[in-house]
Amino acid sequence: MEPHVRSQLDALSLDPQRPLIVTDADEVVAYFIAGLERFLHRQELWLDLKSFAITGNIRRSGDGQACTPAEVKALLNEFFVSDTELLDPVEGAAEALRTLSARAQIIVLSNVPQEIHPARQRWLRRHGMDYPLIANTGSKGLPLRHLSEQISAPVFFLDDLPPHLDAVAEQASRVRLLHFIADKRLAALTGRARNCHLHTSHWPDARIFIENELNSHGF
Ligand SMILES: [Mg+2]
Repeated sequence: MEPHVRSQLDALSLDPQRPLIVTDADEVVAYFIAGLERFLHRQELWLDLKSFAITGNIRRSGDGQACTPAEVKALLNEFFVSDTELLDPVEGAAEALRTLSARAQIIVLSNVPQEIHPARQRWLRRHGMDYPLIANTGSKGLPLRHLSEQISAPVFFLDDLPPHLDAVAEQASRVRLLHFIADKRLAALTGRARNCHLHTSHWPDARIFIENELNSHGF
């Protein structure tokens, strides 16, 4: 785990007896792909969603040529800087989390560059989801292991990317995994992750799943 991630995790004040919900941001509480498409259109580019990948799928409107991996990297960095606060919230996310916050502690674990942390936290606040934000780098397996070791109550993890769910299943097997993809096109492309206890695009479903788990474990 990167030192900057470790220090953010250690700065949290968590109650070991209280359930913990760790949610991703992009495609879980925020519409990332739709926001990226708006950004690309401004630059006469578009996202060819023929596979679950960004690199290789950003094309020029004129000649249809795909951007190189280096160009895509630069575009994504620019997108995070200019459009992080312009993303649309996913329907029902704020409401479900507010309801769940009566029974669980909530944190947002998002793979955004460190320098984007303040903009993303402002976005969360503006959309009624002012929970502690951890700006992570790389796999989410070790951060979840570190968190779940501190909590005796149930721990839940929501993410759209199967590799993160797989890593958490491997590193912290007691964590309940929710494979959540807000964008219906991406959900159709990806299918259900190998490692998940629920696969959904709807926050009310996620809330009910978590509430049932809490009920059945006496929380
Ligand atoms: Mg995501």
